[in-house]
Amino acid sequence: MLEKLGLGGKLSLAFIVIAGLPTLAGILGLIELQVLARRQAEVISQTIPAIAEVRGMAEESTRIIAIAPELAAVTTQAERANRAQFLSNQVQALTGRLDALERGGIAGSGRLRDTVTDAARVLALLNELVETRIALHSGLKQLTTRNLTAANNLLSMADTLVANAEMGTTAVISSLYSPGSSPVEEQARTDMLDKLIEVDLFQLGLMFELRSQTAEIGLLINRIEKAGTEAELREIEAALSSRLNIVSRRIKAIRDPGRRQQAETFAAQLQAVPESNAGLFGLRGRILTTETRITALKQELQNTALRLGDEASAVADQAQARALSSGNAAAADIQRAQLRNGFAAVTGFLLSLAVLWFYVRGSITRRLNQLAGIMAALMRGQLDHPVRPRGQDEIARMEAAVEVFRQQALDKLELEKVRDRNEQELREHRNNLQSLVDNQTERLRQEVEAHDVARQKAEAADQAKSEFLAMMSHEIRTPMNGVLGMLRSLSDEGLPPRQMDRLRTALVSGQNLLKILNDILDYSKIEGGALQREDITFSLRGLINDIVVLLRPGADSKGVHLLLDAAQELPDVVEGDAAKLRQILFNLLSNALKFTDEGEVILRVRTNGSTHGRHQITFEVSDTGKGISQEAKSRIFEAFEQEDSETARKFGGTGLGLAISRHFAQTIGARLSLESAKNVGSVFTLALELAAGDPAALIPEEPPVPVRPTGPPLSVLVVEDNEINQMVAQGYLERMGHSCQCAGTAEEALELLREVPFDLVLMDVNLPGISGTEATRRLRALPDPRLSKLPVIGISAHVQEEQIETHLQAGMNGFVAKPVSPERLAKALQSVTQGREGAVYLSARGAAPEQDRTSSLLQHMQENIQDLGSGRAAEIAALFQQELPLSIQKMEAALSAQDLGRLGKEAHRAKGAAGNFGQRDLASLLTKLEADAVNGRQSAAAEQMRQINLLAPQVLEALAGVLRDCGLQTKGAVNT
Ligand code: ADP
Repeated sequence: MLEKLGLGGKLSLAFIVIAGLPTLAGILGLIELQVLARRQAEVISQTIPAIAEVRGMAEESTRIIAIAPELAAVTTQAERANRAQFLSNQVQALTGRLDALERGGIAGSGRLRDTVTDAARVLALLNELVETRIALHSGLKQLTTRNLTAANNLLSMADTLVANAEMGTTAVISSLYSPGSSPVEEQARTDMLDKLIEVDLFQLGLMFELRSQTAEIGLLINRIEKAGTEAELREIEAALSSRLNIVSRRIKAIRDPGRRQQAETFAAQLQAVPESNAGLFGLRGRILTTETRITALKQELQNTALRLGDEASAVADQAQARALSSGNAAAADIQRAQLRNGFAAVTGFLLSLAVLWFYVRGSITRRLNQLAGIMAALMRGQLDHPVRPRGQDEIARMEAAVEVFRQQALDKLELEKVRDRNEQELREHRNNLQSLVDNQTERLRQEVEAHDVARQKAEAADQAKSEFLAMMSHEIRTPMNGVLGMLRSLSDEGLPPRQMDRLRTALVSGQNLLKILNDILDYSKIEGGALQREDITFSLRGLINDIVVLLRPGADSKGVHLLLDAAQELPDVVEGDAAKLRQILFNLLSNALKFTDEGEVILRVRTNGSTHGRHQITFEVSDTGKGISQEAKSRIFEAFEQEDSETARKFGGTGLGLAISRHFAQTIGARLSLESAKNVGSVFTLALELAAGDPAALIPEEPPVPVRPTGPPLSVLVVEDNEINQMVAQGYLERMGHSCQCAGTAEEALELLREVPFDLVLMDVNLPGISGTEATRRLRALPDPRLSKLPVIGISAHVQEEQIETHLQAGMNGFVAKPVSPERLAKALQSVTQGREGAVYLSARGAAPEQDRTSSLLQHMQENIQDLGSGRAAEIAALFQQELPLSIQKMEAALSAQDLGRLGKEAHRAKGAAGNFGQRDLASLLTKLEADAVNGRQSAAAEQMRQINLLAPQVLEALAGVLRDCGLQTKGAVNT
């Protein structure tokens, strides 16, 4: 039960016990004291009345003792009755008290009752005797009175007799003592004296005696009443009897018989008394006896009363003693109760302490201490002692929790051991692995190096491809334009019809080739992710008219009607990517014309109105051509896809036009769709939103920059380390009517500039020694305003935006990307001479796809022939044929001598020459060689060198072939 209690419950219980035990002891003590007090009160309530009763009895006994003599002494019946009644009342009162005592169960009341009964008995006897005595007294008194009366009578008679006798005597005597008249009288007096002496005197004596005796008798009678003892009474009786005898005899001496008789009567009355109990002495004797008995009874009564008093006192004392003892007992009880309470309090206290000890200390503090100790031990990492929860209280739960911690710690310890073991194993593995990894790393490093080389190669290839494509814009297109221009100009010169036909065929082929080139370049641009929307303000009508005008001759020559159906409400000036829109429409219309042999090709342009200044324009190119099969409809929008092989064979083409158109449409936010029916015709629809344009923002079409001389001739300094490039630039400039001087280094140029007044500088950026950029900076810093303001046009193959920005910031007035085309150069010259700063002329078409070596060289040669004339072109080619093997020789020598600086410079020079002939692979190898040389990678440089040695003969061989094809004779290549 206790174990099920929680800590709160245990504490509450402990507090209940701690507080409850003393309280219980107090309550028990209180109850006990109450019982004791009640018992005490009972004893007192019983004892005190009993004592009062007993004390009352004592009082009553005292009264009895006091009144008993009175009763004994009373002389009248009334008094007797009164006293007897009083005493009787006292006895009754005693009896009443006795009853009360007996009711109170006072010990000793039995004896008291006997005593009281005795007292009552004695009182009754006493009363009776007193009554008798009073009666006897009364009789005695009457008798005495009678006797006294008789005695008094007798005495009175005796007095009289005495008086008489005295008088006779006195008379005789007086006569005798009277002086005499005669001696007879004297004799008679003597005789008489003698007689007197003889008779009267005697009589007198007798009478005197009678009287005295009678008087004595009277006294004796009186004494009878007062006689206190039998002896006295007997004495009085004897005296009385003697006196009565004397009296009786003297009475007889009474001479008067009447008197004598009367005297005898009186005497008889006196004599009669003693003879019976009823006589004076009998009465008096009985009175005395009674008195004696009364006295005895009185004494007995008093004794009884005294005894009663004593007994009552004894009972009272006993009761008192009992009360006292009960008081003492109560006091003892109280003392005991106090002791018990004290003991209970002490026990309660000890019990509380025990509870505190066992519960609080034993159950809580000790367990908490143990728990704290265990937890401290756990913290120290001693996990050997399991914790066993006792009970179900909070501490037990804490103990269980600590046990869980301990188990977890054990588990953790185990885990740590395992982990340590694992770590150890791991360390071992790691050490093993380390060496393995070191080996692998070394291998990987080698692989990475190899990959790096491969990546560099790939990057170089990519770069080469990009650069090749970039060059294509000029390198192929330019000679193609040249060829086409030449062909067209030839047609003006009145050739025979057969040649005219061939010429026309050549023209068409050239145009096709140009288109193919354009398409490839466009698609390369798309693939390179370089496609961007370039919005300008342009005339919509002008754009569609131009296209139609451009294509109409082709349509006319095929006998196909090319019609333009442009809605009246078309906006005139719009904003959008005119170039891409033009190309899409051009592609669609070209295709329509290409695949339509008869009928018509219509360009419909509609608008669905405008919202918020934006026009919804729909361009629809429909034809009555061969149509497109359902199957090919979606496919033909993919690159290099054509409807079928027959189409490809019959119509040629690259399958890029629609793919480019679709990409362009996506870029400008247009939707290109197709509807077609085989052998009926096709409808390509381009839906486009164009913003309304501001007519004021229309850029007037720039007239083509003539390559031929225009404006005043300029004196130009060409700063270029590569001789071929020098020749090319010189050729272009001279064809434009400018004079030109070349410098191989920036230092040389700066010298020349101080001496010769040039109008303009064409500065290659990458020069040996001081770079073109630095040279420009120095030029700008010169005090001579002629020099510091001299226009400088930078030339570089590096056309990254930030690089161009750096060149311009160095003080260059314009920038032309390598390879330099005569158009871009003419434009740059025009811009700079007209004061337009920051004119940048990059390649028109970006990266060009790879071509085979011969076509690349052919293009370059044709271009050079067109731009520089065949003589200069042949000269340049011959120079390249001589330079390249020499350059390779120098590079080999520098590599052998480990002169990487020289190797780098030589590679840079050769790179420019190779680039000029469109030999991107060779140029790329030379670029890498330059980089390896600059970065001190000798082994890599050796590898590049090895490849260059393999490639260079191929290039030179191909160039020789091209020169032969072009009918140009050079001095021939130097054998490598
Ligand atoms: P290319 O015309 O150079 O072959 P395109 O991408 O312009 O490449 O066209 C892909 C193919 O789609 C064409 O070869 C042709 O089969 C088909 N095609 C395109 N336009 C038409 C058209 N108007 N009528 C019939 N076929 C067409």
